[in-house]
Amino acid sequence: MKMKGLGKGPAALFAAVVAVGAVIAMLPGAPASAQDKRVFITIGTGGPTGVYFAAGNAICRLIHKEAAEGRKEGRQHGIRCSAPSTGGSTYNIGQIKEGELDFGVAQSDWQYHAWKGDTPDAVPPFPGLRAVFSLHPEPFQLIVGKDSGINSFKDLKGKRVNIGNPGSGQRGTMEVLMDAYGMSNSDFQIATELTSTEQANALCDGKIDAFGYSVGVPNAGVAVATDGCDARIVSLDGDVEKKLVAEHPYYAFATIPAGTYKTTDKDVTTFGVLATLVTGEKVDEQTVYEVTRAVMDNIEDFRELHPAFAKLDPKKMVTDGLTAPIHPGAMRYYKEKGLM
Ligand code: GLU
Repeated sequence: MKMKGLGKGPAALFAAVVAVGAVIAMLPGAPASAQDKRVFITIGTGGPTGVYFAAGNAICRLIHKEAAEGRKEGRQHGIRCSAPSTGGSTYNIGQIKEGELDFGVAQSDWQYHAWKGDTPDAVPPFPGLRAVFSLHPEPFQLIVGKDSGINSFKDLKGKRVNIGNPGSGQRGTMEVLMDAYGMSNSDFQIATELTSTEQANALCDGKIDAFGYSVGVPNAGVAVATDGCDARIVSLDGDVEKKLVAEHPYYAFATIPAGTYKTTDKDVTTFGVLATLVTGEKVDEQTVYEVTRAVMDNIEDFRELHPAFAKLDPKKMVTDGLTAPIHPGAMRYYKEKGLM
């Protein structure tokens, strides 16, 4: 349909109405209600080989399933969902703040800092951030080349290290760790800013010696390096990490069990965070309710959509790793189900 010459005849009038409707629908922050006929929501994720991308698309899948089946007492909603690949946690939080994304997956440490507004250089301060639920654990993994000679974080001195793309959660967590070790970019031969998808190939191509990555286990991005070119995951469980875990509520030790990847011949212990689903206070209550419900009512299906989700427990998902207040739409569902 040509948009030129608006104002002549019913077809042109229709075109004008559609155009105005489209503009209104695209206005950032326009309140969307799941009770309206159609609501479009976008969930920010991470790199295409990570687990956030799988999580966002699993959530969309269950939302669409509920919409299509209109099941469980004949209820229906009109939510259409997309979960594009993005730069990661801190990017997602910033875009929710701007009204460009409705939901996002974000590390529990960055949820904490965004809500408190205490590290403005790493994540935008956002008191309007709201929690929905937490997801899988994300151990922070130092992944090193087969012949790099790196066996500890301190061994990164003088090496070529990928610190992660700006906007990713691992970039921020890597910087926290560097700080805790009293190290900075100038301690490395080079510090690259490759994305989570680029870094494994760069390691296998011999362009970098190591990268830091906070991500669910197992995942395709890490497997490219471990199974593809015998990269190893180094344990991070010394005094520096013990102090970080003792001092911060959003960190916990985690184990990557022997056998997870080709080169994990024994358990690897490292510290990590939880992945969480977050939204903004302006996102409509009914929409957040329907998103929460689609996942929680179908939790068995959700667990099967990625091995990192296999152990998800709704009782923990409503408490662990959440710092920002729970969005009222999610809270309504949790109260109905006796989860809160
Ligand atoms: N934890 C990473 C981040 O916050 C993303 C991991 C993933 O894509 O699964 O950017």
